[in-house]
Amino acid sequence: MMEDELQETLIKLKRSNSELEQFAYVASHDLQEPLRMISSFLQLLQMRYSGQLDSDADEFINFAVEGAKRMQNLIQDLLAYSRVTTKGNEFKDIKMEEALEQALVNLKMSIEENNANITHDPLPIITADYSQMIQLLQNLIGNSIKYRSDKIPEIHISAQEKDNDWIFSVEDNGIGIDPQYSDQVFQIFKRLHTNEEYKGTGIGLAITKRIIERHSGRIWVESELGKGSKFYFTIPI
Ligand code: ADP
Repeated sequence: MMEDELQETLIKLKRSNSELEQFAYVASHDLQEPLRMISSFLQLLQMRYSGQLDSDADEFINFAVEGAKRMQNLIQDLLAYSRVTTKGNEFKDIKMEEALEQALVNLKMSIEENNANITHDPLPIITADYSQMIQLLQNLIGNSIKYRSDKIPEIHISAQEKDNDWIFSVEDNGIGIDPQYSDQVFQIFKRLHTNEEYKGTGIGLAITKRIIERHSGRIWVESELGKGSKFYFTIPI
């Protein structure tokens, strides 16, 4: 009896979860088109009539243009977040070292601009979505560079086998994170800084966490303010 009820609840949960996923995807995808229209016509208004109406009108149009741009960014982020589960590729045996190499190619500009020194242990072959592993490493290493301190960024990627998991880590010598926020940083749109201090929307770590959850792994961070951060994630063997 208990067993049956549990089974039924599980089926219902799975169904409502996948309906929610579908909803988030459709909502963010279908919102893009009308918003694009609002945004481009607002910009047209701005270009054609700026300076010809009164100064209030100029200001109102500017606010509307900025608002529409912000909303476009948010919707794009939501879509990227929802795509982790709706548009993922199948898991294959992949070389984590190759995923790292590709992530570093994608980050080439900011690595060079910041003189970042990136080292790694030998990395294993794992069963995973290759593109998502690139995205994950790119998010974590990208953050390590972005939240650098005034020292030259030193970043190390390691892998260790433990029980039935690979435990990976990305360690940096950046500004660090106050431990009281170590769970919150993985929440969608959660940021510890203003856009003036560091550009960003607060989606990177939420996407990273979702990728790891899709792979039945865990992700967490150990850090202290001013002492650098060490992000860990696991992938089942
Ligand atoms: P974003 O970088 O757009 O703010 P993220 O989701 O990637 O979004 O990160 C969330 C927050 O976590 C950041 O605003 C930053 O405060 C903190 N953070 C992430 N990675 C690091 C890091 N390596 N060192 C210090 N702080 C970090």
